[in-house]
Amino acid sequence: MAPSGSGSVKRSCQRVLYWIPVLFISIIVCWSYYAYVIQLCIESMGNIGEKVVCLLAYHVFFIMFAWAYWKTIFTKPMNPSKEFHLSYADKELMERVDRGESQQELLRRIAKDLPVYTRTMSGAIRYCDRCQLVKPDRCHHCSVCDKCILKMDHHCPWVNNCVGFSNYKFFLLFLAYSLLYCLFTAATDLQYFIKFWTNGLPDTQAKFHIMFLFFAAAMFSVSLSSLFGYHCWLVSKNRSTLEAFRAPAFRHGADKSGFSLGFSKNLRQVFGDEKKYWFLPVFTSLGDGCSFPTCLVNQDPEQPPTPAGNNSAVKNGDNHPFPAKPLRESQSHLLNSEKSWPEHDVGEDKEKHGMP
Ligand SMILES: [Zn+2]
Ligand SMILES: [Zn+2]
Repeated sequence: MAPSGSGSVKRSCQRVLYWIPVLFISIIVCWSYYAYVIQLCIESMGNIGEKVVCLLAYHVFFIMFAWAYWKTIFTKPMNPSKEFHLSYADKELMERVDRGESQQELLRRIAKDLPVYTRTMSGAIRYCDRCQLVKPDRCHHCSVCDKCILKMDHHCPWVNNCVGFSNYKFFLLFLAYSLLYCLFTAATDLQYFIKFWTNGLPDTQAKFHIMFLFFAAAMFSVSLSSLFGYHCWLVSKNRSTLEAFRAPAFRHGADKSGFSLGFSKNLRQVFGDEKKYWFLPVFTSLGDGCSFPTCLVNQDPEQPPTPAGNNSAVKNGDNHPFPAKPLRESQSHLLNSEKSWPEHDVGEDKEKHGMP
């Protein structure tokens, strides 16, 4: 029992250490609250109107930022649903058969009824050895969490959590509100920062808080704006960070825009259909995280055909080893209607199989 005991102690220590970046951010935020509210607004601002406006606006940014940060940290990442896990019998079979072709054959049989359209670079079914499951599209195994995470974006040490399907919207809002928080703090602190250098401030400890507050806010604004800009670009293209580094592979090969549905639909995939919730850290992303609509509308020959599946790939059937490259959204009359766009896996299945 000794090795497993020391192993669990090590894991517990690691778990504690992983919270250090979150603690670091929290301490900076708490200090910035004290520096802004007490030292800048209450101690240093002379004009009562300016004081009230700054305090009110500051608290709006502060609450939205803290709310989004909290939700990003404490929203559990979603794992693949039960049907993607191998049954007990399949697990046993998996262990018995040789790696390679016979294992792939078994996996192909298991994946036959699952909505998986992505493959490994070599065209094999994506399988997680560790979790013993067929990986849903856009799902990846996180080595830190030691779990498969749906639509994994990246593991973020600053929130000590995996950013994925369940909290990607919260992560974006966290970036947006922390950027606004820093920009607002820097902008309203600027005139007092200038006074600091021109000896216009009384000689109290407030002047040092005012100086460091400006430096910290300006520094974080620069790094946050580049990160936020990058994620806005990713959302517009409907790509995760992992997919930006390595394009997802489909039956016809890798396609970095395989999940892109056009700017407006890409935005709605993350933020949902109801605009009133877009700026609130409440879950409104579309879909179930296990399957995603794609602009690729041809039939995957390995997937079961729907009764209405009547596109070219179906006609070609298995005689065609390499299905023709699928239609892009702009080429496909099937996808022109906004209403017909699926939000659920069932709908997606229909679209992929070419149902009008
Ligand atoms: Zn896994
Ligand atoms: Zn993780």
